[in-house]
Amino acid sequence: MTAQRIDGKQVADELIIKVRDRITARVNSGKRAPGLAVVLIGNDPASAVYVNSKRKRCEEAGVKSFSYDLDESTTQAELLKLIDDLNHHPEVDGILVQLPLPKHLDADLVIDHIDPHKDVDGFHPYNFGRLAQRRPLLRPCTPRGVMTLLESTSIELAGLDAVVVGASNIVGRPMALELLMARCTVTICHSKTNDLATKVAAADIVVAGVGIPNFVKGEWIKPGAIVIDVGINRLDNGKLVGDVGFEEATKNAAWITPVPGGVGPMTVATLLENTLDAAEQRETH
Ligand code: NAP
Repeated sequence: MTAQRIDGKQVADELIIKVRDRITARVNSGKRAPGLAVVLIGNDPASAVYVNSKRKRCEEAGVKSFSYDLDESTTQAELLKLIDDLNHHPEVDGILVQLPLPKHLDADLVIDHIDPHKDVDGFHPYNFGRLAQRRPLLRPCTPRGVMTLLESTSIELAGLDAVVVGASNIVGRPMALELLMARCTVTICHSKTNDLATKVAAADIVVAGVGIPNFVKGEWIKPGAIVIDVGINRLDNGKLVGDVGFEEATKNAAWITPVPGGVGPMTVATLLENTLDAAEQRETH
């Protein structure tokens, strides 16, 4: 068997077009375009790359982008004050604070300070709780983007056994809640999990979000499984790879996402989808 690739770039482009069409219809009916405030603190080069791609995609989708590039020395109080202002800004529907923050800033405090109805990253405990209760409001972008990729295969997810490798707040945990909401039977694995290979080998769906190249071995993958690789790792030679041994996994899986060009583009497209959803939800709130 050679796995079919799930083309994240193509699915993301289609999602951006859908978002753009919805925004055009809004604007034609006299409403304003949704607004996204993107806050970048300090000089982390990877963060700057992510933020630039988010701002560029905003333009393509017709989302109004508000840029706040703050100095590394920004204090906690200054950042919270900016978030207060954005919480009350009438044209801002979504607030994204690019993580990781410089060490002297407390990310949890910052996330808790964002109005949950503008929390387009879906990281606020309110939104996380809503997802856990199966009545999501704003859903974390990467896991929601993965669900869109899974839907693009048209495979019935209910009843499938899913294994999520990685249990972080931004990837693994919300991913598990999304799969549970889709009626999968979900196992969450982390650094203390015993016998990971056996667990992965029993899975119909494997989602890897660990941050270690070639961590999930291709030969563990059950024949016919769907493999979603969230990992983004840069090797010493500059090459970007995921967490799954891609070549071997392709021999067993029915469907697989490549890195790059898999989950990554979906995260940004889903951010814009969330921003539009936030604008619409705020109008009916
Ligand atoms: P993270 O916060 O470092 O979490 C990593 C998770 O992997 C933790 O739950 C950790 O377990 C688990 N882990 C570490 N070693 C393990 C082991 N030996 N066995 C099993 N589990 C192990 O990372 P993250 O922020 O979730 O990101 C994970 C990866 O996804 C990174 O490569 C990141 O770049 C990528 N990512 C991609 C996107 C995208 O848009 N494609 C978005 C976000 C992140 P413990 O909980 O026990 O520590």
